[in-house]
Amino acid sequence: MKEKKRNPNWTRDEHLVALDYYLDNRDDYFSPTGSGVLELASKISRVAKALGLTGSDTFRNSSGVSMKLLNFRSHDPQHHTKGLPQGNKLEQVVWDEFADDPDTLKKVVANILNVASTGMVDDTPGLTDDDTMEAREGKLLTRLHRYRERSTAIIKRKKASFLKMHGNLCCEACGFDFVKTYGERGDGFIECHHTKPVSELKSGETTKMCDLVLLCANCHRMIHAARPWWTIEQLSASINQDV
Ligand SMILES: [Zn+2]
Ligand SMILES: [Zn+2]
Repeated sequence: MKEKKRNPNWTRDEHLVALDYYLDNRDDYFSPTGSGVLELASKISRVAKALGLTGSDTFRNSSGVSMKLLNFRSHDPQHHTKGLPQGNKLEQVVWDEFADDPDTLKKVVANILNVASTGMVDDTPGLTDDDTMEAREGKLLTRLHRYRERSTAIIKRKKASFLKMHGNLCCEACGFDFVKTYGERGDGFIECHHTKPVSELKSGETTKMCDLVLLCANCHRMIHAARPWWTIEQLSASINQDV
């Protein structure tokens, strides 16, 4: 007998899109045949597809989406006992992160859907998420961030202008200079971090030089090592000057 294909777990991105809808329609019954839930299911499918997910014929259909919305209800203090008790751990996590900030969530969801429909982050060879903790705002915007800070042309210009102004390339947070430590091999070596908040990343915008800061690999890694990602100010404040 052919084994039925299992549907993959919901991602953070999909949870965010569903939570935004939930918060706008808190008192709804979330009928799977209602136009709102049907439309939401098609948006979520688009996001899942952009993330490369596939499943069986029931993949992200409106019944599944309706259930997800009812799962959110069980986390909602305004509706304590009416939700479905079972669910995925991420429901609570995204609830805690965004339920009190629906305006930011709305912006994030608009940007996720925008990236999902333009698909630009799929065409970036060699762009992996291995060394980056996925942002609070989900995988698609994480990829867009990584894409922005690896766009070669603007990085070249940023490095050239920094070099002209300071005479050497060094980490703007801790001052690390690759040439000083590693000699010739470190020449021209420094990473770029894109400083625009992830919640505000829209596809199709061009990166400006002032959006980038130069960071050593350690400092850059620390920004992305946990959620929420640090701002440059938080990174700088965390650097222990006594060491
Ligand atoms: Zn550094
Ligand atoms: Zn970065």
